[in-house]
Amino acid sequence: MTTIVRRAVLAGLAAAALPRPALAQGAHGRVVVVGGGFGGATAARVLHRAGVAVTLVEPAETYWACPFSNEVIAGLRPLSAQAFGYDGLRASGVIVARTKAAAIDGAAGRVRLADGSTLDYDRLILSPGIALRFDALPGYDAAAAERMPHAWKAGAQTDLLARQLAAMPDNGTVVLSVPANPYRCPPGPYERASLIAYFLKTRKPRAKLIVLDAKDTFSKQKLFEQAWKALYPGILDYVPLASGGQVTAVDPGAMTVATDFETYKADVACIIPPQRAAPIAAAAGVADRSGWCPIDPVTFESRLVPRIHVVGDAAIAGAMPKSAFAANAQAKVCAEAVIDLLAGRVPEPPKLINTCYSLVAPGYGISVAGVYRPDKGVLADVEGAGGTSPVDSPDTVRRQEAAYAEDWYRTITHAVFG
Ligand SMILES: Cc1cc2nc3c(=O)[nH]c(=O)nc-3n(C[C@H](O)[C@H](O)[C@H](O)COP(=O)(O)OP(=O)(O)OC[C@H]3O[C@@H](n4cnc5c(N)ncnc54)[C@H](O)[C@@H]3O)c2cc1C
Repeated sequence: MTTIVRRAVLAGLAAAALPRPALAQGAHGRVVVVGGGFGGATAARVLHRAGVAVTLVEPAETYWACPFSNEVIAGLRPLSAQAFGYDGLRASGVIVARTKAAAIDGAAGRVRLADGSTLDYDRLILSPGIALRFDALPGYDAAAAERMPHAWKAGAQTDLLARQLAAMPDNGTVVLSVPANPYRCPPGPYERASLIAYFLKTRKPRAKLIVLDAKDTFSKQKLFEQAWKALYPGILDYVPLASGGQVTAVDPGAMTVATDFETYKADVACIIPPQRAAPIAAAAGVADRSGWCPIDPVTFESRLVPRIHVVGDAAIAGAMPKSAFAANAQAKVCAEAVIDLLAGRVPEPPKLINTCYSLVAPGYGISVAGVYRPDKGVLADVEGAGGTSPVDSPDTVRRQEAAYAEDWYRTITHAVFG
């Protein structure tokens, strides 16, 4: 059955005023979701709740959440607080295929799984997250990451960086390298810088942190810089692009990090490399030359391959940052759009919200929020909506924001993973 005929049939069913769940069920509404992170697990839940036959494809049995992983690195939280399983999703009835999507045939509407089986779909949602570009920084590859962790995918890398910090000499030097945009979690490197500085201040006060940045401006910059000045003078040295902050090569053997101007010797080096969408996106043909996936801002359908939708970090979502909050919001909008499309309805243009909290010290939180809507084919900022925490807030407000951050994490992980 072609898409057009199927849509016509579904539109006819819609006219008969059957409830939405029944419409989407069965052969006319097979949806496959690839990736069980904040985006994919959310989409699978929403679709299942609406009665759509959905299979979530995810190879890992444990999902390691990145939000709050900077606290783990600074010894403020156990790694176990980042671990989530899929039993909650299974218990609510979502079918979870514990394997990897190996290939996607967009024309046939078929996903080939790593175990050799296939899944046919009417609509496919990809939320596969990021790949670290090990080709982008001379000297930095998967082996180098075992010596100079990125910790930009949570789990073993988070633990490695935490252990390295705990074991470093009392007067040691930590180097943190930050990539140019775009990358996962724009404020994340600066939260990491803050919490590593907190760790040094409280545990190794003779040590230093040098932050080498490939750009001059960044998310919540005024708030971070204000906090660094007040809390971490003499500990945290920030080097922006304009002062030679761009890292051009690393040598994991010598533990050096080079810019065009200087070579820094590190006791601990955290290298956050440039990124792109996870490999399955390119394999499906939905990633463009930037390495990320262009999408329609109303439905999140790929601009390159019909019937494949992309949400979360892998997508080019205009002004929306790559965050767990955004992946969750996009997944809800995308799932609703897919339900509409399967039923022959035209999806309404959405409004999406994002809030990113960062901790600069325990009990000291800051945030940035935005509202986004489709405009001229992209997701654009709604002017006047959102903003950052005020620069001159009293301690009580910073404490409140830190508490809101905790609440947000508890709420979203419970909503997504159960
Ligand atoms: C240090 C740090 C701190 C952060 N803090 C925050 C924060 O405070 N707030 C916030 O909102 N965001 C934060 N983020 C960002 C957030 O973690 C990501 O934006 C979010 O995880 C994106 O969700 P996603 O679903 O796109 O990808 P992911 O969460 O990465 O999920 C992708 C999933 O897809 C699976 N997958 C990949 N390829 C395949 C395949 N071929 N087949 C099947 N499955 C596949 C993976 O196994 C993975 O489970 C932080 C990130 C970092 C690194």
